Amino acid sequence: MVLAHDTEASLLAAVELVNSGEDPETLLTLDQADAWYARHRYSGRRDRTEAELADLRAIRPVLRELLTADRDTAAELVNRMLADASATPRLVRHDGIDWHIHAVSPDQPLVRRVLVETAMAMADVVRGDEMSRLAVCADDTCAGIVLDLTRNRSRRFCSTTCANRIAVAAYRARRRG
Ligand SMILES: [Zn+2]
Ligand SMILES: [Zn+2]
Repeated sequence: MVLAHDTEASLLAAVELVNSGEDPETLLTLDQADAWYARHRYSGRRDRTEAELADLRAIRPVLRELLTADRDTAAELVNRMLADASATPRLVRHDGIDWHIHAVSPDQPLVRRVLVETAMAMADVVRGDEMSRLAVCADDTCAGIVLDLTRNRSRRFCSTTCANRIAVAAYRARRRG
């Protein structure tokens, strides 16, 4: 583990949410939102309405700005997001998940919790000076975000699809060459 487990979990959820907006869009239905919610072991309020889905889609640019900001800008964004949400961090232990931080109560709207949890995670990243863990996909045609949690920082692509596409292109270029 490179970062605290709840930091990693929040970042993974936020990155997947942002990348769902890449072509082909993968957050169009409530079922897709359900899968994302379950995969990242979210708890707390879930309205499961079209409005909530629209809000999830709408915060993606905000999350992208935070996840790809330079360190000083990220610090400012984190402070603003936590203040806007009147965040009150506290340690909780629930559903078999060991002590971790929640900074808004579980009855707050899902979208607000996602924003605050991402901000809390980025507070950790900024403090630890681990901004280089986050980058934009090395495929020039893709704006997906890469979260590199490997020890040797070997991840360059947002997905295996992008990694494979580049590998195939490189192979073809070699054959031509
Ligand atoms: Zn929790
Ligand atoms: Zn990519």
